[in-house]
Parts: sequence; C-alpha cells; structure tokens
Amino acid sequence: MNQRDKSTKFDIIIIGGGAAGLMAAALLSESGKKVLVLEKMRQAGLKLRITGKGRCNLTNTFDQETFLSHCSNGTNYLKTAFLSFSNKDTIKTFESWGLPLVEERGSRVFPKSGKSLDVFLTLLSRIEKTNKVRLFCNKAVEQLLIENKQIKGVRCQDKEVFYADKVLLCCGGESYPATGSNGDGIRLAKLSNHKITPTMPALVGIRTKRAHPERLQNYTIRNVEVKILDKNDNILEKDFGDIYLDEYGLAGPTILRLNRKIAERLYKGEKLFVSVDMKPKLSKEQLRKEIVKVLQERMGQSVESVVRAWLPKELVEDYKHWLKRRKEEYKSLNQRVGNADFILEYLKSNKDEIIGDMGWHEAIVTKGGVDLTEVDCNSMQSKRVKGLFFSGEVLDFDGDTGGFNLQIAFSTAFLAAKSMCK
Ligand SMILES: Cc1cc2nc3c(=O)[nH]c(=O)nc-3n(C[C@H](O)[C@H](O)[C@H](O)COP(=O)(O)OP(=O)(O)OC[C@H]3O[C@@H](n4cnc5c(N)ncnc54)[C@H](O)[C@@H]3O)c2cc1C
Repeated sequence: MNQRDKSTKFDIIIIGGGAAGLMAAALLSESGKKVLVLEKMRQAGLKLRITGKGRCNLTNTFDQETFLSHCSNGTNYLKTAFLSFSNKDTIKTFESWGLPLVEERGSRVFPKSGKSLDVFLTLLSRIEKTNKVRLFCNKAVEQLLIENKQIKGVRCQDKEVFYADKVLLCCGGESYPATGSNGDGIRLAKLSNHKITPTMPALVGIRTKRAHPERLQNYTIRNVEVKILDKNDNILEKDFGDIYLDEYGLAGPTILRLNRKIAERLYKGEKLFVSVDMKPKLSKEQLRKEIVKVLQERMGQSVESVVRAWLPKELVEDYKHWLKRRKEEYKSLNQRVGNADFILEYLKSNKDEIIGDMGWHEAIVTKGGVDLTEVDCNSMQSKRVKGLFFSGEVLDFDGDTGGFNLQIAFSTAFLAAKSMCK
C-alpha cells in the first residue's frame, strides 16, 4: 500500500455530517475504529442547528408504543432500532456527555440552554475527543464504490477516493435543501440498485386556493379544529390546535401534523379541502343563536362591528375578503344567504380547496426514501450491498413534530454504529 492509500483507508466512512452521521461518529469515537465523516457543506450539522426554531427538540419522553404510533411506515421495523437506543437513552447519553436537558409541554425534550447549537457542539466535542474520527467538510460524495456486492469506498465530487469496508449512508432526505440534504443520499442508494419509495415533502404548510391578505402573514389563530375533506365532504383527518395564516395558504403545528397524514394523497393529486372551525366548543345551533342575537342588537351597524363580537380586529379584513368572494359564488348559484349564515360559515366551516403544499424548501421532513425491505432492521445493513449501512431521513421513515424525527435519526444511527463495530 503506498502512502496515499494509507491516508485514504478507514475502517468506517460516514457520508453526511447531520444528526444521524454526527451521532454515529460520536458513538464510534471510542470504538477504536478509524472513522471518516464526509460532509458536503462548508460546515456539518447545518440542519441540526436550526431544529426546533433554534432550540432543538431532540427527543421526547413518550413510551415506546406512543412513540412508534407517531412514526409512519415500518413501526415494527423501527422497533428494533428504538429498542436498542430509545428516547430515554438519548436523554441519558446527552446528559452524560455534559448537556443538561429539560422536558417541556407535550413531553418534548430540549437542551436546558435553549440552544440547538449546544446539541451540535456536544456531538462535535465527543467526535474530537479521541482523534479517531476525522471530519472533512466540503466533501460531497458522488459515487459508492462497490465490487462483487461489497462496499469498498466512496468517490467525492472532487474525484478524491476514500476506502473502507463499511460505509454508513446518512445524507438525509430532500427537505430544506439549503442545509445540504438535497436528495444525494437517495440518488446514491438508487444508483446502487436499492428500491426507493417515492419521496414527497411532509410536515409542511398547505397552499389553498384562497389567498390571505399579505399583512396577515403568520397571524396565529388559536384552538381551532381543522378537518381535511375529500371531494364528497367526507372527513379524512381532523386535528385541534393552532394554525398560522399564510399569504398562500395555511401553516402552523396543526396543519403540519395534518399535512404529514395527507402528503401521499396530495402527491397522487387527489382533490382535497381544508375546513377550519374557529369555535369548536359551540355547536352550529348554539353559535347561530348567538349570531342572530348580536345581529339584532347591532342592527344597522357595519359588518366590522358585528363580526368583532367573535373575531379579533386582524381577522375582520380576512372576513371581508372571504365574504366578497362567497357572496359572488352564492349569486352565481342564484342562492340567497342571510348575514347570519355567512358569519356562521366563516366561523364554523370555513372551507377552502387545497392546491398543494409549500414544497421542499419549507418541509420539515421527507416522506419516502430508501425502501425498508432493502435494509435489515436488526443491523441497518443493506440487503443488496454488504458493508453498506443506512440511518436517518434517507430511509423511508418519518415522524410527527415533537422530537420524533431526530430520535429516529439517533436510534438508527446507534444501531448502524453498533453493527459496524462487529
Ligand atoms: C427547520 C427544521 C426544523 C426541525 N426541527 C426538528 C426538531 O426540533 N425535532 C426533530 O425531531 N426533528 C426536527 N427536524 C427534522 C430533523 O432535523 C431531521 O429529520 C434530521 O436532521 C435528519 O437527520 P439526518 O442525519 O438523516 O439528515 P440531515 O440532518 O439532513 O443530515 C444530512 C447531512 O448529509 C449531508 N450530505 C448530503 N449529501 C451529501 C453528500 N453527497 N456527501 C456528503 N454529505 C452529504 C448534508 O449536507 C447534511 O449535513 C427539523 C427539520 C427542519 C428542516
């Protein structure tokens, strides 16, 4: 072996210095193995650093059954990884590495400092501790080197080649491409003959036919019930919580959760509608009575002053926009609708057509990815290429908001790291 061969030969290569790659490297740092992490971007962990709005909801405290019920696809499959490194292990591990954590509302766990950067720095300090792991940034892997169905190494975009008999592919999915995860991992898996489940953005806002006034961008409406309806008005999904108005549609935690459940229907082009109930605690009859009473009391007053009985002043403008359009629609149908019906409809069943989602640039997670039948769930090793392992979002897993996705990355990284040491 010449000098160059020596410097490019490692026991394990990790492709991608994101949540999964950094966790695997941190865990491997004391294994005695010579590990190389190749990260495409100028810095590692760019996505990790913006998670949880800069606070990083790195896991949660749900029991196994509840945890898995929030993760789609392969709940059984994920069980092995989760059992080998659960949310409790994540908490224990980070605390033992010197990062105090805190549990907040909804069983969500954050660093006590409130800074996602501290999660990244904790992983980095573990990696740097033993000199066994090297992290190269600005190194985009463009090819997996495979001979006789055995991984041999990787070739980077700058043509540099690194060798190892074990390679962990954890380049993430396609969401938030500005952080580096732009689908390379999925392409590399496909090129090495792995079946791919179609990918689509998930945990992302929805675009609706009706625009909202620009100045209401990010306006939050709290405690609403949101339903997703099919073209026959059947309820497909419903959820309760807060929504944000967006110039092009709706966003916010409730919409994100619902979007994850309807992503596949949207992908298939199904006609779907969203209906918002701003007064879920009142029945239609109760609310109608209230509306009729206020209309009588405020007879002769402007629309603004009447609807102010239920709406904050910011939403009155939205109501006026909506009312104008709705009146025209009823007129074209030759239907006469009274003021009470309009107010009732806006408050109780404000329905709009969903025309898509806000896309990869805003999606929190990727639905789809490397098909789970291609990967052994007990080791995270490819069934097609010996020595090739997978972890994180590149796989066909996704979870709800609330620390599920990072925990999936950590659990699968742990299992892959453990298997690669054998
Ligand atoms: C805005 C936002 C907020 C989020 N907040 C949370 C949260 O609070 N809690 C939670 O659980 N989840 C959250 N998530 C989801 C979570 O961040 C991801 O699911 C998780 O980071 C996936 O980890 P990963 O390692 O698989 O992929 P990533 O973290 O995306 O890492 C993949 C890495 O691979 C690198 N890479 C890509 N291609 C190549 C290549 N060809 N060669 C070398 N390197 C490459 C990328 O640059 C990247 O650094 C959030 C996501 C977003 C976008």
